[in-house]
Amino acid sequence: MTTIRTTAQLLEAGMIEPEKIKKLEEVTKKFAVSLTPQLTELINLEVTGTSMAIRKQFLPDEQELIVNAAELKDPIGDTVFEGVKGVVHRYPDRCLLMPINTCPVYCRFCFRREKVGKNDSALTKEELERAFSYIESQPKIWEVILTGGDPLFLKPKKLNELLNRLDRIPHVEVVRIHTRVPAVDSARITEEMINALKINKALYVALHANHASEFTEPVRAACAKIVNAGIPMISQTVLLKGINDTPEALGDLMRTLVKNRIKPYYLHHADLAEGTSHFRTTLEEGRHLMKSLWGNYSGLCQPTYVLDIPGGHGKVPVSCHQYFSAEEVSGSAAESYRVEDYQGKFHSYKA
Ligand SMILES: *Cc1c(COP(=O)(O)O)cnc(C)c1O
Ligand code: SF4
Repeated sequence: MTTIRTTAQLLEAGMIEPEKIKKLEEVTKKFAVSLTPQLTELINLEVTGTSMAIRKQFLPDEQELIVNAAELKDPIGDTVFEGVKGVVHRYPDRCLLMPINTCPVYCRFCFRREKVGKNDSALTKEELERAFSYIESQPKIWEVILTGGDPLFLKPKKLNELLNRLDRIPHVEVVRIHTRVPAVDSARITEEMINALKINKALYVALHANHASEFTEPVRAACAKIVNAGIPMISQTVLLKGINDTPEALGDLMRTLVKNRIKPYYLHHADLAEGTSHFRTTLEEGRHLMKSLWGNYSGLCQPTYVLDIPGGHGKVPVSCHQYFSAEEVSGSAAESYRVEDYQGKFHSYKA
Protein backbone atom coordinates (compact mmCIF):
# COMPACT_ATOMS: atom_id res chain seq x y z
CA MET A 1 0.00 0.00 0.00
CA THR A 2 1.17 3.51 -0.74
CA THR A 3 0.29 6.89 0.66
CA ILE A 4 -2.89 8.26 -0.91
CA ARG A 5 -2.57 11.84 -2.15
CA THR A 6 -5.03 12.29 -5.01
CA THR A 7 -8.76 12.03 -5.62
CA ALA A 8 -8.06 9.35 -8.24
CA GLN A 9 -6.36 7.24 -5.58
CA LEU A 10 -9.20 7.89 -3.15
CA LEU A 11 -11.66 6.72 -5.77
CA GLU A 12 -9.62 3.63 -6.51
CA ALA A 13 -9.48 2.81 -2.80
CA GLY A 14 -13.28 3.08 -2.67
CA MET A 15 -13.15 5.96 -0.21
CA ILE A 16 -15.11 8.46 -2.25
CA GLU A 17 -18.06 8.20 -4.58
CA PRO A 18 -17.52 8.88 -8.32
CA GLU A 19 -20.21 11.59 -8.43
CA LYS A 20 -18.35 13.57 -5.75
CA ILE A 21 -15.01 13.68 -7.54
CA LYS A 22 -15.42 17.10 -9.22
CA LYS A 23 -16.18 18.90 -5.97
CA LEU A 24 -13.47 17.00 -4.11
CA GLU A 25 -10.93 17.94 -6.74
CA GLU A 26 -11.74 21.56 -5.96
CA VAL A 27 -11.10 20.79 -2.30
CA THR A 28 -7.80 19.03 -2.89
CA LYS A 29 -6.64 21.87 -5.10
CA LYS A 30 -7.03 24.16 -2.09
CA PHE A 31 -5.88 21.84 0.66
CA ALA A 32 -3.53 18.87 0.44
CA VAL A 33 -4.64 15.31 1.11
CA SER A 34 -2.45 12.58 2.51
CA LEU A 35 -3.40 9.24 3.98
CA THR A 36 -0.74 6.87 5.21
CA PRO A 37 -1.34 3.15 4.58
CA GLN A 38 -1.86 2.80 8.33
CA LEU A 39 -4.79 5.24 8.21
CA THR A 40 -6.22 3.72 5.05
CA GLU A 41 -6.32 0.40 6.84
CA LEU A 42 -8.00 1.94 9.85
CA ILE A 43 -10.59 3.68 7.69
CA ASN A 44 -11.43 0.40 6.01
CA LEU A 45 -12.10 -1.08 9.44
CA GLU A 46 -14.44 1.71 10.50
CA VAL A 47 -17.96 0.46 11.07
CA THR A 48 -21.00 2.38 9.86
CA GLY A 49 -22.98 3.67 12.79
CA THR A 50 -19.89 4.73 14.75
CA SER A 51 -18.57 8.29 14.68
CA MET A 52 -16.31 7.42 11.70
CA ALA A 53 -13.70 9.48 13.50
CA ILE A 54 -10.78 8.65 11.23
CA ARG A 55 -12.65 9.13 7.98
CA LYS A 56 -13.96 12.54 9.08
CA GLN A 57 -10.55 13.74 10.18
CA PHE A 58 -8.66 12.84 7.03
CA LEU A 59 -10.92 12.39 4.00
CA PRO A 60 -11.62 15.57 2.00
CA ASP A 61 -15.20 16.78 2.19
CA GLU A 62 -17.05 19.26 -0.01
CA GLN A 63 -18.03 21.24 3.08
CA GLU A 64 -14.43 22.51 3.08
CA LEU A 65 -15.40 24.76 0.19
CA ILE A 66 -17.67 26.74 2.50
CA VAL A 67 -15.71 29.68 3.85
CA ASN A 68 -17.43 31.33 6.75
CA ALA A 69 -17.05 35.14 7.15
CA ALA A 70 -15.19 34.81 10.45
CA GLU A 71 -12.60 32.40 9.05
CA LEU A 72 -9.01 33.47 8.41
CA LYS A 73 -5.99 32.43 6.34
CA ASP A 74 -3.78 32.78 9.42
CA PRO A 75 -6.25 31.98 12.22
CA ILE A 76 -3.84 32.16 15.15
CA GLY A 77 -1.71 35.02 13.85
CA ASP A 78 1.54 33.09 13.31
CA THR A 79 2.84 35.63 10.80
CA VAL A 80 2.47 38.49 13.29
CA PHE A 81 5.33 37.04 15.34
CA GLU A 82 7.44 35.36 12.67
CA GLY A 83 10.62 37.41 13.11
CA VAL A 84 12.92 35.03 11.25
CA LYS A 85 11.64 32.51 8.72
CA GLY A 86 10.48 29.39 10.54
CA VAL A 87 10.47 30.92 14.05
CA VAL A 88 7.31 32.22 15.74
CA HIS A 89 8.20 34.06 18.93
CA ARG A 90 4.97 35.16 20.53
CA TYR A 91 5.55 34.49 24.22
CA PRO A 92 8.61 35.70 26.16
CA ASP A 93 10.01 32.34 27.28
CA ARG A 94 9.28 30.03 24.34
CA CYS A 95 9.16 29.98 20.59
CA LEU A 96 8.06 27.72 17.79
CA LEU A 97 10.59 26.40 15.30
CA MET A 98 9.09 25.00 12.10
CA PRO A 99 11.75 23.08 10.18
CA ILE A 100 9.33 21.60 7.61
CA ASN A 101 5.84 22.32 6.34
CA THR A 102 4.87 18.76 5.48
CA CYS A 103 3.00 16.17 7.51
CA PRO A 104 2.46 12.45 6.94
CA VAL A 105 -1.30 13.18 6.91
CA TYR A 106 -3.35 16.31 6.42
CA CYS A 107 -6.05 16.90 8.99
CA ARG A 108 -9.10 18.49 7.37
CA PHE A 109 -9.37 21.03 10.20
CA CYS A 110 -5.68 21.96 10.25
CA PHE A 111 -5.15 25.46 11.64
CA ARG A 112 -2.10 25.95 9.41
CA ARG A 113 -3.70 24.53 6.26
CA GLU A 114 -2.80 27.60 4.23
CA LYS A 115 0.86 26.81 4.77
CA VAL A 116 1.20 23.17 5.65
CA GLY A 117 1.30 20.84 2.66
CA LYS A 118 1.19 23.71 0.17
CA ASN A 119 4.56 23.36 -1.46
CA ASP A 120 6.78 20.80 0.15
CA SER A 121 9.56 22.88 1.50
CA ALA A 122 11.88 22.59 4.42
CA LEU A 123 14.05 25.35 5.84
CA THR A 124 17.36 25.38 3.99
CA LYS A 125 20.60 24.93 5.88
CA GLU A 126 21.09 28.70 5.83
CA GLU A 127 17.57 29.44 6.99
CA LEU A 128 17.93 26.93 9.81
CA GLU A 129 21.21 28.53 10.84
CA ARG A 130 19.50 31.95 10.88
CA ALA A 131 16.76 30.47 13.06
CA PHE A 132 19.34 29.07 15.51
CA SER A 133 21.18 32.42 15.57
CA TYR A 134 17.93 34.16 16.40
CA ILE A 135 17.26 31.74 19.28
CA GLU A 136 20.83 32.24 20.49
CA SER A 137 20.34 35.99 20.46
CA GLN A 138 17.26 35.76 22.70
CA PRO A 139 18.43 34.69 26.18
CA LYS A 140 14.84 34.65 27.48
CA ILE A 141 13.94 31.69 25.25
CA TRP A 142 13.79 28.82 27.72
CA GLU A 143 11.86 26.36 25.55
CA VAL A 144 11.86 25.62 21.83
CA ILE A 145 8.79 23.93 20.39
CA LEU A 146 9.33 22.05 17.14
CA THR A 147 6.18 22.03 15.09
CA GLY A 148 5.23 22.76 11.54
CA GLY A 149 4.70 20.50 9.62
CA ASP A 150 5.51 17.39 11.58
CA PRO A 151 9.09 17.35 12.96
CA LEU A 152 9.10 13.55 13.25
CA PHE A 153 8.58 13.43 9.50
CA LEU A 154 12.26 14.42 9.28
CA LYS A 155 14.87 11.71 8.86
CA PRO A 156 16.29 10.72 12.28
CA LYS A 157 19.78 11.88 11.34
CA LYS A 158 18.59 15.34 10.32
CA LEU A 159 16.36 15.64 13.38
CA ASN A 160 19.20 14.62 15.64
CA GLU A 161 21.49 17.28 14.18
CA LEU A 162 18.80 19.86 14.75
CA LEU A 163 18.16 18.74 18.33
CA ASN A 164 21.85 18.67 19.14
CA ARG A 165 22.22 22.19 17.82
CA LEU A 166 19.43 23.33 20.20
CA ASP A 167 20.98 21.27 23.00
CA ARG A 168 24.12 23.40 22.72
CA ILE A 169 22.29 26.69 23.31
CA PRO A 170 22.76 27.24 27.07
CA HIS A 171 19.53 29.14 27.79
CA VAL A 172 17.35 26.59 25.96
CA GLU A 173 16.51 24.14 28.73
CA VAL A 174 13.50 22.37 27.27
CA VAL A 175 12.65 21.12 23.78
CA ARG A 176 9.14 20.04 22.83
CA ILE A 177 8.09 18.20 19.69
CA HIS A 178 4.49 18.36 18.47
CA THR A 179 3.68 15.37 16.28
CA ARG A 180 1.11 13.04 14.76
CA VAL A 181 3.68 10.52 13.53
CA PRO A 182 3.39 7.91 16.32
CA ALA A 183 -0.36 7.69 15.60
CA VAL A 184 -0.44 7.81 11.81
CA ASP A 185 2.91 6.42 10.66
CA SER A 186 4.04 4.38 13.66
CA ALA A 187 6.75 2.57 11.71
CA ARG A 188 8.78 5.78 11.73
CA ILE A 189 9.30 5.38 15.48
CA THR A 190 12.33 3.16 15.07
CA GLU A 191 15.24 2.61 17.43
CA GLU A 192 17.14 5.11 15.30
CA MET A 193 14.39 7.70 15.80
CA ILE A 194 14.32 7.11 19.55
CA ASN A 195 18.08 7.51 19.71
CA ALA A 196 17.80 10.69 17.68
CA LEU A 197 15.55 12.13 20.39
CA LYS A 198 18.08 11.57 23.15
CA ILE A 199 19.62 14.88 24.10
CA ASN A 200 20.93 16.30 27.36
CA LYS A 201 18.14 18.82 27.83
CA ALA A 202 14.61 17.83 28.79
CA LEU A 203 12.66 16.75 25.74
CA TYR A 204 8.89 16.30 25.66
CA VAL A 205 6.80 14.76 22.90
CA ALA A 206 3.29 16.17 22.45
CA LEU A 207 1.05 13.79 20.53
CA HIS A 208 -1.83 15.16 18.50
CA ALA A 209 -4.75 12.70 18.89
CA ASN A 210 -8.48 13.26 18.65
CA HIS A 211 -10.19 9.92 19.12
CA ALA A 212 -9.62 6.74 21.13
CA SER A 213 -9.92 4.66 17.96
CA GLU A 214 -6.58 6.09 16.78
CA PHE A 215 -4.83 3.96 19.41
CA THR A 216 -4.36 0.69 17.59
CA GLU A 217 -1.69 -1.79 18.65
CA PRO A 218 1.15 -0.29 16.54
CA VAL A 219 0.28 3.19 17.85
CA ARG A 220 0.36 2.05 21.45
CA ALA A 221 3.68 0.32 20.80
CA ALA A 222 5.19 3.43 19.19
CA CYS A 223 4.14 5.58 22.17
CA ALA A 224 5.48 2.99 24.61
CA LYS A 225 8.87 3.10 22.88
CA ILE A 226 9.03 6.85 23.39
CA VAL A 227 7.96 6.75 27.03
CA ASN A 228 10.19 3.76 27.78
CA ALA A 229 13.11 5.83 26.54
CA GLY A 230 12.42 8.25 29.40
CA ILE A 231 10.71 10.84 27.23
CA PRO A 232 7.56 12.24 28.82
CA MET A 233 4.55 12.47 26.55
CA ILE A 234 1.69 14.95 26.66
CA SER A 235 -1.22 15.33 24.29
CA GLN A 236 -3.11 17.91 22.32
CA THR A 237 -6.61 17.37 21.02
CA VAL A 238 -8.79 19.52 18.84
CA LEU A 239 -12.43 19.61 19.88
CA LEU A 240 -14.27 18.40 16.78
CA LYS A 241 -17.96 18.29 16.09
CA GLY A 242 -19.23 14.76 15.42
CA ILE A 243 -15.86 13.25 16.38
CA ASN A 244 -15.09 13.88 20.04
CA ASP A 245 -17.75 16.35 21.19
CA THR A 246 -19.59 14.04 23.58
CA PRO A 247 -18.63 13.40 27.21
CA GLU A 248 -18.13 9.69 26.38
CA ALA A 249 -15.93 10.20 23.32
CA LEU A 250 -13.83 12.87 25.01
CA GLY A 251 -13.59 10.96 28.28
CA ASP A 252 -12.65 7.77 26.46
CA LEU A 253 -9.90 9.58 24.57
CA MET A 254 -8.49 11.09 27.76
CA ARG A 255 -8.48 7.70 29.50
CA THR A 256 -6.82 6.09 26.50
CA LEU A 257 -4.10 8.73 26.59
CA VAL A 258 -3.52 8.31 30.32
CA LYS A 259 -3.48 4.50 30.02
CA ASN A 260 -0.75 4.90 27.47
CA ARG A 261 1.22 7.17 29.83
CA ILE A 262 0.41 10.33 27.89
CA LYS A 263 -0.73 13.21 30.08
CA PRO A 264 -3.63 15.15 28.51
CA TYR A 265 -2.35 18.70 28.03
CA TYR A 266 -4.54 20.84 25.80
CA LEU A 267 -8.00 20.55 24.33
CA HIS A 268 -8.02 23.18 21.59
CA HIS A 269 -11.16 24.97 20.61
CA ALA A 270 -11.18 24.52 16.81
CA ASP A 271 -9.46 27.51 15.21
CA LEU A 272 -11.08 29.72 12.57
CA ALA A 273 -9.22 28.11 9.65
CA GLU A 274 -10.90 28.41 6.25
CA GLY A 275 -13.41 25.73 5.34
CA THR A 276 -13.59 24.17 8.80
CA SER A 277 -16.92 25.44 10.16
CA HIS A 278 -18.46 21.96 9.97
CA PHE A 279 -15.96 20.86 12.62
CA ARG A 280 -16.43 23.74 15.02
CA THR A 281 -18.46 23.51 18.23
CA THR A 282 -19.41 26.58 20.21
CA LEU A 283 -17.31 27.61 23.19
CA GLU A 284 -20.35 27.01 25.36
CA GLU A 285 -20.52 23.38 24.18
CA GLY A 286 -16.84 22.97 24.93
CA ARG A 287 -17.25 24.37 28.40
CA HIS A 288 -20.10 21.96 29.10
CA LEU A 289 -17.95 19.04 27.97
CA MET A 290 -15.14 20.11 30.25
CA LYS A 291 -17.57 20.34 33.15
CA SER A 292 -18.77 16.82 32.40
CA LEU A 293 -15.20 15.49 32.63
CA TRP A 294 -14.48 17.10 35.98
CA GLY A 295 -15.13 14.69 38.85
CA ASN A 296 -16.40 11.93 36.61
CA TYR A 297 -12.95 11.20 35.24
CA SER A 298 -9.63 10.95 37.03
CA GLY A 299 -7.75 14.18 37.57
CA LEU A 300 -5.10 12.79 35.25
CA CYS A 301 -7.70 12.83 32.46
CA GLN A 302 -8.31 16.59 32.58
CA PRO A 303 -6.83 18.67 29.76
CA THR A 304 -6.91 22.46 29.76
CA TYR A 305 -9.45 23.74 27.25
CA VAL A 306 -7.83 26.61 25.34
CA LEU A 307 -8.74 29.16 22.73
CA ASP A 308 -6.02 30.62 20.54
CA ILE A 309 -7.12 34.24 20.20
CA PRO A 310 -7.19 35.21 16.51
CA GLY A 311 -4.59 37.83 15.59
CA GLY A 312 -1.68 36.31 17.49
CA HIS A 313 -2.73 37.23 21.02
CA GLY A 314 -1.95 33.77 22.37
CA LYS A 315 -3.83 30.93 23.99
CA VAL A 316 -6.13 31.40 26.96
CA PRO A 317 -7.90 28.83 29.10
CA VAL A 318 -11.64 28.92 28.49
CA SER A 319 -12.88 25.94 30.49
CA CYS A 320 -13.03 27.61 33.86
CA HIS A 321 -16.47 26.96 35.26
CA GLN A 322 -16.80 29.06 38.43
CA TYR A 323 -17.14 26.39 41.08
CA PHE A 324 -17.32 28.93 43.88
CA SER A 325 -18.68 32.34 44.70
CA ALA A 326 -18.12 34.64 47.66
CA GLU A 327 -20.75 34.55 50.38
CA GLU A 328 -21.62 37.60 52.43
CA VAL A 329 -21.04 37.05 56.13
CA SER A 330 -22.20 40.12 58.01
CA GLY A 331 -19.87 41.49 60.64
CA SER A 332 -17.15 38.94 60.01
CA ALA A 333 -13.77 39.26 58.38
CA ALA A 334 -13.70 35.51 57.63
CA GLU A 335 -13.57 34.24 54.07
CA SER A 336 -16.75 32.52 53.11
CA TYR A 337 -17.64 30.86 49.84
CA ARG A 338 -20.43 28.91 48.24
CA VAL A 339 -18.72 26.00 46.50
CA GLU A 340 -20.29 23.72 43.91
CA ASP A 341 -19.21 20.07 43.78
CA TYR A 342 -18.89 18.06 40.58
CA GLN A 343 -22.46 16.77 40.93
CA GLY A 344 -23.86 20.30 41.12
CA LYS A 345 -24.55 20.35 44.87
CA PHE A 346 -23.62 23.44 46.85
CA HIS A 347 -21.54 23.61 50.03
CA SER A 348 -20.30 26.33 52.25
CA TYR A 349 -16.59 26.92 52.74
CA LYS A 350 -15.39 29.16 55.54
CA ALA A 351 -11.82 29.94 56.48
C1 LIG B 1 0.81 27.34 21.13
C2 LIG B 1 2.01 28.15 21.01
C3 LIG B 1 3.06 28.01 21.92
C4 LIG B 1 3.04 27.01 23.04
O1 LIG B 1 2.21 27.42 24.05
P1 LIG B 1 2.10 26.57 25.40
O2 LIG B 1 0.99 27.26 26.12
O3 LIG B 1 3.41 26.68 26.09
O4 LIG B 1 1.80 25.17 25.02
C5 LIG B 1 4.16 28.82 21.77
N1 LIG B 1 4.23 29.73 20.77
C6 LIG B 1 3.23 29.89 19.90
C7 LIG B 1 3.37 30.91 18.83
C8 LIG B 1 2.08 29.10 19.98
O5 LIG B 1 1.11 29.25 19.08
S1 SF4 C 1 -0.66 17.18 11.94
FE1 SF4 C 1 -0.95 19.32 12.65
S2 SF4 C 1 0.11 20.60 11.14
FE2 SF4 C 1 -0.17 18.56 10.19
S3 SF4 C 1 -2.08 18.67 9.08
FE3 SF4 C 1 -2.63 17.91 11.11
S4 SF4 C 1 -3.14 19.75 12.32
FE4 SF4 C 1 -2.03 20.43 10.46
